Amino acid sequence: MTTHTFDIIVLGGGSGGYAAALRASELGKSVALIEKDKVGGTCLHRGCIPTKALLHAAEVADHVRDAASVGVTASLSGIDAEGVRAYREGIVAKKYKGLEGLVKARGITTVAGEGRLNADRSVSVGDDVYVGSDVVLATGSYSRTLPGLEIGGRILTSDQALALDVIPERVIVLGGGVIGVEFASVWRSFGVEVTIVEALPHLVPNEDIAMSKGLERAFRRRGIQYSLGVRFQRATQDDTSVTVTLEDGSEFTADYLLVAVGRGPATADLGFEEAGVVLDRGFVTVDKELRTGAPGVWAVGDIVPGLQLAHRGFQQGIAVAERIAGLSPAIIPDAQIPKVTYSSPEVASVGLTEEAAVAEHGADAVTTYEYNLAGNGKSEIIGTGGLVKVVRQKDGPVLGVHLIGDRVGELITEGQLAVAWEAHPEDIAPLIHAHPTQSEALGEAFLALAGKPLHAL
Ligand SMILES: Cc1cc2nc3c(=O)[nH]c(=O)nc-3n(C[C@H](O)[C@H](O)[C@H](O)COP(=O)(O)OP(=O)(O)OC[C@H]3O[C@@H](n4cnc5c(N)ncnc54)[C@H](O)[C@@H]3O)c2cc1C
Repeated sequence: MTTHTFDIIVLGGGSGGYAAALRASELGKSVALIEKDKVGGTCLHRGCIPTKALLHAAEVADHVRDAASVGVTASLSGIDAEGVRAYREGIVAKKYKGLEGLVKARGITTVAGEGRLNADRSVSVGDDVYVGSDVVLATGSYSRTLPGLEIGGRILTSDQALALDVIPERVIVLGGGVIGVEFASVWRSFGVEVTIVEALPHLVPNEDIAMSKGLERAFRRRGIQYSLGVRFQRATQDDTSVTVTLEDGSEFTADYLLVAVGRGPATADLGFEEAGVVLDRGFVTVDKELRTGAPGVWAVGDIVPGLQLAHRGFQQGIAVAERIAGLSPAIIPDAQIPKVTYSSPEVASVGLTEEAAVAEHGADAVTTYEYNLAGNGKSEIIGTGGLVKVVRQKDGPVLGVHLIGDRVGELITEGQLAVAWEAHPEDIAPLIHAHPTQSEALGEAFLALAGKPLHAL
């Protein structure tokens, strides 16, 4: 047994873990970053980056298909699954190389292997023991399935769906949340017959109802089928197809079934509870500053209950590193974290939905305004419809910003500033949005809420 001593031991090199390691090293700490697979984690290798590469390829396919509508002569002769794979893998490889270089340049020691927390809060990797005054747990998450629904063969998680080297003819997507909706969007653009099965009454059910309805309309127009409000009962597969049966007896048959019903925390059998870390249904219980029940042990990323997003992991990792170094970073509530579903159209939001705002402040204290992208020049030019919805407290700050339309994900930062800075629409209304941009649609909503609409009634 060899003991290695560092200031900080980080267990898991995904978004949360590597952000903690990078910031801690910047602050002069010695860091061991333990990773059993590849630094970069789910987001870089199996999540955000490869799926967004797929979505970009899908967007290009749609543009080529629709080229005649803008007077460009082109025709889509097919999707080359191998070419798409090479493009996607090339992007991931470049980003991975850059990240590895950065981690090395910051003097972080990466340890390849599976780590386990010991009762004395050291971390073992094989015969080596890593000791630090602080340990950051960042072991991430895995794709969940439903009871009785076994992954394998034609029944895939997002990991296997990404690795598929064929473009299927028909796919069923179980789950109408962000991951399911993004894959459905990609496949449809690649010419696949797609059916989404969602047990709740709407797609993207965590979003404002106006966004869910907008996405449902847009998907219907794109020929994406969906079944809402009926629960999954079983799936059976043979050599050529998979059939899904719902509780109302309806059946769907396709080449593959993607199971996208959420992600569970990867915390089992890692010694966490024996070391005094409290778990609740597998998630790590933390205080507002991300301290676990064990002194000197912190948790960040998808193992912490709340939004499972890479940028939340980055933010938490940075904040924990700063706290360990004696700084006092702000506590960012989940309601101030922007969320983007990168389908076509995109859905982006920050802050409270109208329903949540009414529940928190009362119906009389909440005002909303909806600006249709039909009135926005740039949206017309790029051929997207959609909506901006701003929720404000009456005579008070902006509580939520909700967007749907192609490319609107890029606009959500302005919404985040408005919500986090508790800006009143009257504060933002005098600030000018460049013309013609899609951001003008947000500007129009703020102008209208400030009582001086420009291109609206
Ligand atoms: C298909 C898909 C698309 C996504 N798209 C987006 C998106 O567009 N935007 C967004 O913000 N988020 C997206 N996410 C979510 C995002 O990937 C996660 O929120 C983020 O990766 C969480 O970071 P993390 O550090 O908590 O965990 P992870 O990234 O999962 O990293 C955990 C790391 O810990 C390692 N590990 C686990 N246990 C051990 C151990 N015992 N010893 C050593 N190493 C260990 C794992 O190998 C892994 O590398 C997506 C996820 C998926 C699946």
